[in-house]
Amino acid sequence: MRYISTRGQAPALNFEDVLLAGLASDGGLYVPENLPRFTVEEIASWAGLPYHELAFRVMRPFVAGSIADADFKRILEETYGVFAHKAVAPLTQLGANEWVLELFQGPTLAFKDFALQLLGRLLDHVLTRRNERVVIMGATSGDTGSAAIEGCKACDNVDIFIMHPHNRVSEVQRRQMTTILGDNIHNIAIEGNFDDCQEMVKASFADQGFLKGTRLVAVNSINWARIMAQIVYYFHAALQLGAPHRSVAFSVPTGNFGDIFAGYLARNMGLPVNQLIVATNRNDILHRFMSGNRYDKDTLHPSLSPSMDIMVSSNFERLLFDLHGRNGLAVSALMDEFKATGKLSVEDERWTEARRLFDSLAVDDEGTCATIAEVHGETGYLLDPHTAIGVKAARECRRSLALPMVILGTAHPVKFPEAVEKAGIGAAPQLPAHLADLFQRAERCTVLPNDLKAVQAFVGQHGNRGKPL
Ligand SMILES: *Cc1c(COP(=O)(O)O)cnc(C)c1O
Repeated sequence: MRYISTRGQAPALNFEDVLLAGLASDGGLYVPENLPRFTVEEIASWAGLPYHELAFRVMRPFVAGSIADADFKRILEETYGVFAHKAVAPLTQLGANEWVLELFQGPTLAFKDFALQLLGRLLDHVLTRRNERVVIMGATSGDTGSAAIEGCKACDNVDIFIMHPHNRVSEVQRRQMTTILGDNIHNIAIEGNFDDCQEMVKASFADQGFLKGTRLVAVNSINWARIMAQIVYYFHAALQLGAPHRSVAFSVPTGNFGDIFAGYLARNMGLPVNQLIVATNRNDILHRFMSGNRYDKDTLHPSLSPSMDIMVSSNFERLLFDLHGRNGLAVSALMDEFKATGKLSVEDERWTEARRLFDSLAVDDEGTCATIAEVHGETGYLLDPHTAIGVKAARECRRSLALPMVILGTAHPVKFPEAVEKAGIGAAPQLPAHLADLFQRAERCTVLPNDLKAVQAFVGQHGNRGKPL
């Protein structure tokens, strides 16, 4: 499989090089040159497969030519073997034809484990073969950091540096990062906010001289491997609910448009998906586009669903590429315009095309808490605030009551106790068994000033299993 840039100017790469790349050299994001398409018979034959075997069939075309079948099978069995539930991604019924797909049974209790557990193992496999080491630098407002560290902790060839804003992530989220100890794991608390952390990662990618030749790898959802891994659970859920002989709808709590873009790809690969609902919090740039063809940058509004607090959605460019007939120059012009003005809209017929599949809703904190309370009252089931936004959007935007509606359950409620408390239902979520002693574990973290040079010097001194590069 070859991968091309959404801006049309960077050279095409194979899977292995895309795995190790950040942005394309033209500033674009990598996408498959040709999306595989499965027949109805083929998809039907996968019903009842264990998760890792389904994953092999769905993802095999994407890694073809880079990872041998036997290796890929073993990696997938290992990856999805660490999830706490035997079904890996179980479905729980909430209402009539309404389901939550529980994507929080992994080590860090959010859906990001699906991709980052795999990414870590793929990196290890490829880097061992190449006899290379890499450095990962990432910024996190919470979930990505712990999932990336859990995914990479066993990788001999990776040193991982995760920056979070000092004193601005929840205690559970911080401890999920800082209690994973290892020579190759480095938590940095920056005396600044999330954007400061993000800017330092961007600047480090742009000028990698401080790494003395070691390659820097991206773990955010611009990395194609993350999107790829997320396609699988759409197939897994839909197959259990009657696909490919019946269509299914999905409602997806989203910020960077990564998770929902994977659902869009599943549909283009042959899965009958009749509706995709973009569910955002007050940071609603995606809702503004879907509802009114206005992709306009706003200021950041901190919310009770912090993992979706974004100003721009990095993966949206991948959808724009398809909406423009995969014309990289057209996307490049649009993105230049967006960079200059902070605004973007597309021609009417392209927007109408997107609206044939996508609907959207923005839900504020009040609506989020009301939905947590409503669902708890109906069923006793406790939603996390991100999933609650998905449920609210599903109930408002649903096109057909006759078709199953699947809401992506993106996190366990224990990660976001503030929202659950504000919902006023008197129920406090409990840590699952594997994290029961989280508050007793030793932590390791370095506090650094909001200063690029200081951070890069730290990476230089510790980037080789805790020793200087
Ligand atoms: C990351 C995250 C999201 C948003 O996912 P995107 O791929 O950015 O759309 C939603 N919910 C939770 C709990 C997350 O951690």
